Amino acid sequence: MNVATESRAAPGSVAVGADCDPRPEPDSPDGWSFADRPALEAMAARARGTPFFAYDRSAVDRRIAKLRSALPDDVGLLYSVKANPFYPLVHHISRGVDGFDVSSAAELTLALDTGMKASGITFAGPGKSNDELRLAIAVGATVSIESAGELDRIDRIAGDLGRTPQVMLRVNPDLDLPGVGMRMGGEARQFGVDIEQCPALLRRLAAFGDAFRGYHVYWGSQCLDADVVAAAQAQTIDALVSLASIAGHSPALFNIGGGFGIPYSSRAQPLDLTAVGAALEMRMAALRREFPALRVVVELGRYLVGEAGIYVCKVLERKTSRGQVFLVTDGGLHHHLSASGNLGQLIKRNYPMFVGGRAGADADERVHVAGRLCTPIDLLARDISLPRAEVDDLVVITQSGAYGPSSSPAGFLSHPAAAELLV
Ligand SMILES: *Cc1c(COP(=O)(O)O)cnc(C)c1O
Repeated sequence: MNVATESRAAPGSVAVGADCDPRPEPDSPDGWSFADRPALEAMAARARGTPFFAYDRSAVDRRIAKLRSALPDDVGLLYSVKANPFYPLVHHISRGVDGFDVSSAAELTLALDTGMKASGITFAGPGKSNDELRLAIAVGATVSIESAGELDRIDRIAGDLGRTPQVMLRVNPDLDLPGVGMRMGGEARQFGVDIEQCPALLRRLAAFGDAFRGYHVYWGSQCLDADVVAAAQAQTIDALVSLASIAGHSPALFNIGGGFGIPYSSRAQPLDLTAVGAALEMRMAALRREFPALRVVVELGRYLVGEAGIYVCKVLERKTSRGQVFLVTDGGLHHHLSASGNLGQLIKRNYPMFVGGRAGADADERVHVAGRLCTPIDLLARDISLPRAEVDDLVVITQSGAYGPSSSPAGFLSHPAAAELLV
């Protein structure tokens, strides 16, 4: 298997700051297992051509099993549907996790379609409409309250429906976490209620009794450092314990967020899940004594599905511009914005990729892999080493199972959507 190497000084890259940093292992036990040319041709036939995304269900199963064995037995696992809302995949995942974290009415109904019980579904997001709140309350999903105003609306809608809403409080904590790629707490944010403002809301939530189920913190994303994850989880639990003592109500649920990252480059080490599990187990021992009925859950998107997916496109043209080779493909950022480095990445790093059927060939050519859109930012790789690829060769981008089609500007240039397959 030829895994492409990446360059530090790629054209168009913006070298600002640092974030947790990734790597490819298409042939790892957790990763893609059948990316040879006949298998790719069979998938392309099923997809009616290129480009397409394919998700490996057995890789997802292995990832869930790995989480179950590394994390304490009584820690629940939620899948964050927004990472990949492809229905067959979400349906498959529904059998292996304890619940879903959803962020819109459409994700909520999709989650219900899989057979997931409403009691396993939590609905977070700073801009829930009245219709969305009505839906969540009517079906009995748990709403993560993100502001005092939202609690007013929940009260009103629940009154109209004559239902007791299941709610939890999403807290914007003040955690001290050096080195988290994307920080989601401790600052002014549209997400959650600042921890300083929580006591006032807790007085109102007392009226909900057991329908006030607990607390939710989402502290970050894409972190590969087990020490940082462990610190975030411990600080989150500490903050929630202190809120629960103010509330004087024994919570049923602590959703302590996710943040588990996957490696996108050969220089990055995968997250040490065993270390994360061991640290959490240590913190949980005291927590179980304090709140025997409490359920702790983590919510993961990328970590569950990111390494299980590939994106496959075809070389339409090979061209040389001022001495540099461009492979122009039928893919692009309209399908896979994150691979082009334009989905909020601070540094544009190439995703791991290889040329279909060229396992074992030397990566002896430095090229740019372009998409087909009329914008210079549509580069799927900048200055990457690949085996020489010709027109009609397939380019396979791994680590593509999360934040693909649903996070990409599908309408730009009006090309068709990429097919998606669960294999
Ligand atoms: C997006 C999101 C997640 C999933 O994040 P990943 O980095 O994909 O694991 C989890 N929780 C909330 C509240 C989110 O918005």
